Amino acid sequence: MTLFDHPAFEGHESVNAFFDEKSGLKCIIAVHSTALGPAAGGCRMWPYASADLALEDALRLSRAMSYKNAMADIPLGGGKAVIIGDARTQKTPALFEAFGRAVDQLGGRYWTAEDVGVSPADLTHARRETRYVAGLEGHPAASGDPSPVTAEGVFRGVALSVRRALNRDLAGITVAIQGVGHVGAYLADKLHAAGAKLIITDTNAEALRAVAERTGAKVVSPADIFEANAEVFAPCALGGAINAETLPRLKARIIAGGANNQLATPEVGRVLFERGMLYAPDYVINGGGIINVAAEIAALEAGTSFDATWVATKLDRLTETLEEVMTRSIAERRPTHEVANEIAKARIAAAAEAKLAA
Ligand code: NAD
Repeated sequence: MTLFDHPAFEGHESVNAFFDEKSGLKCIIAVHSTALGPAAGGCRMWPYASADLALEDALRLSRAMSYKNAMADIPLGGGKAVIIGDARTQKTPALFEAFGRAVDQLGGRYWTAEDVGVSPADLTHARRETRYVAGLEGHPAASGDPSPVTAEGVFRGVALSVRRALNRDLAGITVAIQGVGHVGAYLADKLHAAGAKLIITDTNAEALRAVAERTGAKVVSPADIFEANAEVFAPCALGGAINAETLPRLKARIIAGGANNQLATPEVGRVLFERGMLYAPDYVINGGGIINVAAEIAALEAGTSFDATWVATKLDRLTETLEEVMTRSIAERRPTHEVANEIAKARIAAAAEAKLAA
């Protein structure tokens, strides 16, 4: 198999491998699309067993960022960086400086940020070598913690889903939240304030206790959350929560939460649809975080300050896009995740054409 036949290649504009002998950097930066703007996506550090696995991850994640950014209607394309290495033992300032030089070589076609295994402190080393790094601290353009904005987008998405599927507002609705970390805890507060009842779980007892105390939520074990008597199941922990084993146990009719990659496979999304359940596609409903980052990049490019009003406008637009997905899903009798992919591809294709014509 060549790179161009790779199942995840799907029209990538460029795939860049970087090696720095002195620091040991081995890194792949995949740029799926710059049709809508410079590609943006975090940098992941992971001890991949082979360069092939690293490549596959970079391609998959970079395409996912293209789709997410297109659905968030922000002027950014999709890209992703992966560094091959163990984040616990192999991080050095020199490694991240070399990574910064790699990013800089792309001349602004790719903006990086943190992801699994990479912290804001690591990126300060990269920033010495390139300005194409989002996630600043203590700067007028800085966007800060994206979680509250992500949670606001998810909250609006839950409210929309409940209105569309049950013709009700949130008062008295029960929402089961899996994971009350950054996003899940903010979401719990918002739902509680809107009069929803909560059932929560987490593997972190301290996080659970704090949220339960504030919101009066009922606490269940991680294994029991799937069977919770709730109208909405909100995955806010790790990926793959909806799979062949958990799907038959779900009592909720609506799945709407902040986690990435909620469906273990696309087929699970089809089964959900055929059972008459409503799934708010994860990469649409959780787009608030990248909107926040986009505001920082825009401010850095323009030499201005972070614009919270722009973020609020884009969050409104995100909810409209989610509603468009749901409307088309019903009209075309197709699962929401398939409709979302199609809208994302169409937005990217239209931008690419407009760019060519300009
Ligand atoms: P987080 O680490 O702060 O929270 C995740 C929580 O899930 C933790 O409290 C953890 O203990 C808990 N958890 C892990 N495994 C669990 C299990 N099996 N059962 C129950 N709880 C479990 O992360 P976060 O920033 O809140 O992100 C949550 C999800 O949302 C992730 O999938 C992330 O990729 C996605 N996401 C986050 C943002 C953001 O702005 N933070 C943006 C987009 C998407």
